[in-house]
Amino acid sequence: MTALAQNLGKLDRHLARFRAGGIMNLIGGETLAGSGGTFQTHSPVDESLIAEVALGTATDIDRAAKAAKAAFPAWAAMEGEKRKAILHRIADLIESRAEEIALCECWDTGQAWRFMSKAALRGAENFRFFADRAPAARDGQSLSAPGQLNLTSRHPIGPVGVITPWNTPFMLSTWKIAPALAAGCTVVHKPAEFSPLSARLLAEICHEAGLPPGVLNLVNGMGEGAGKALTEHPDIKAIAFVGESRTGSMIMKQGADTLKRVHFELGGKNPVVVFDDADLDRALDAVIFMIYSLNGERCTSSSRLLVQDTIAEEFHAKLVERVNRLRVGHPLDPETEVGPLIHKTHFDKVTGYVEIGRQDGARLAAGGTRVGEKGWFVRPTLFTGATTDMRIAQEEVFGPFLTSITFATEAEALNIANDVAYGLTGYLWTNDLTRALRFSDALEAGMIWVNSENVRHLPTPFGGVKASGIGRDGGDWSFDFYMETKNRAFALGNHKIQRLGA
Ligand code: NAD
Repeated sequence: MTALAQNLGKLDRHLARFRAGGIMNLIGGETLAGSGGTFQTHSPVDESLIAEVALGTATDIDRAAKAAKAAFPAWAAMEGEKRKAILHRIADLIESRAEEIALCECWDTGQAWRFMSKAALRGAENFRFFADRAPAARDGQSLSAPGQLNLTSRHPIGPVGVITPWNTPFMLSTWKIAPALAAGCTVVHKPAEFSPLSARLLAEICHEAGLPPGVLNLVNGMGEGAGKALTEHPDIKAIAFVGESRTGSMIMKQGADTLKRVHFELGGKNPVVVFDDADLDRALDAVIFMIYSLNGERCTSSSRLLVQDTIAEEFHAKLVERVNRLRVGHPLDPETEVGPLIHKTHFDKVTGYVEIGRQDGARLAAGGTRVGEKGWFVRPTLFTGATTDMRIAQEEVFGPFLTSITFATEAEALNIANDVAYGLTGYLWTNDLTRALRFSDALEAGMIWVNSENVRHLPTPFGGVKASGIGRDGGDWSFDFYMETKNRAFALGNHKIQRLGA
């Protein structure tokens, strides 16, 4: 039996209960139907129905927010060591069910097994990392002033809303939920409507691990329904959101009346800049990996290649050869490098950019066509000869779609790199140390890798500038978002107080 057939057999067994009972909400520890009925989730692989999903509305959000509010005092007051132990148990259970999570995620999102099998384990690592930091999360500083001692401390902000996208839903949900729980917050999670499966698995795992009822609540539904209601709910103190920039802008407006604190991880149009003095073989590997892995549905993807004119022809020739050899196929086949796009709507958007690129006058050097007649498969696409003013050089396509622009000088490369609305990541390939320091200092991006693809290290700050986001995750930065800092000042003696009206 092939590995694909084996994976399909296992997936079938895992999905049986969802086919029979649907994907339900989980509120206050109870599995509940949605008050709006159900909606359907389909696999991008063959468009088949995966399951009926609870359609949550403002009523379910209200119930979940009240459950999170009721659970907050006890969870916030629990000793850090106890919270740490529960979060480690969650990580243990994620590890023990990593295969199930990965199989479901591939089927639900179209992401290839070779990447997703590790994504579930990265979710467990997120829990472990923040679990270990839970006991010290409240610690602050002692700041002495003349005659006064100031003590700072941090306190969980309250119930928070977490709204996640469909591209790598399990990893991204754990990335938000783990620090929130470690800080002592309770959570209402609204996962993306296109990929609800792994959020249900996560909620079940958390409860099985001993998370008290109401500490993590799951409400499925649409962005404009459950999502909007969550951002407007007065009991929800903050919204951690991962998704498109224009949705972030809507959430900011929706949350204005209740003065929501927001943390946004949004879109990107990230440059990878290749200078002629770089290790070009390694640069080529990284360029390909950072746009065609995860189907290019990756906020940190290097979707703009800026290549120096002196090496452009040779670099493009090698690139085209490799892009044409990328293995597009069933996401559960371990050989597959690129799976189907999440949904017809997204497939239409990505393939629509092929026509836009042609009309703009760029050269379609590879791909751009549909693969097969079922499912949302597309040949990995490369446009060369683009200029920075073109739409394919400015707009986030969010697919296996690379736009290449040629530059002559470092100054020109920097202008092009910064000439977009976004600023999430940047990748720089050069062996000139001084240039690397100078260029990375001036590059408008929250995260920059030099002579490397994106390698995530949990203690480092993750987030973007410009239209790519507000706030940072990772390390202690996550706690700054989920906690309020309090300052207490103590007089050390009888200092002089002005005696008004005396
Ligand atoms: P999206 O913005 O369409 O949806 C994300 C989530 O927001 C979904 O759960 C959706 O239901 C919800 N939503 C939609 N409208 C809402 C509203 N009015 N109020 C409240 N919630 C609402 O994004 P997507 O298409 O699911 O995901 C792709 C996007 O996510 C891309 O732009 C990508 O770059 C971005 N992303 C960013 C990061 C990062 O770390 N910066 C990571 C992954 C994905």
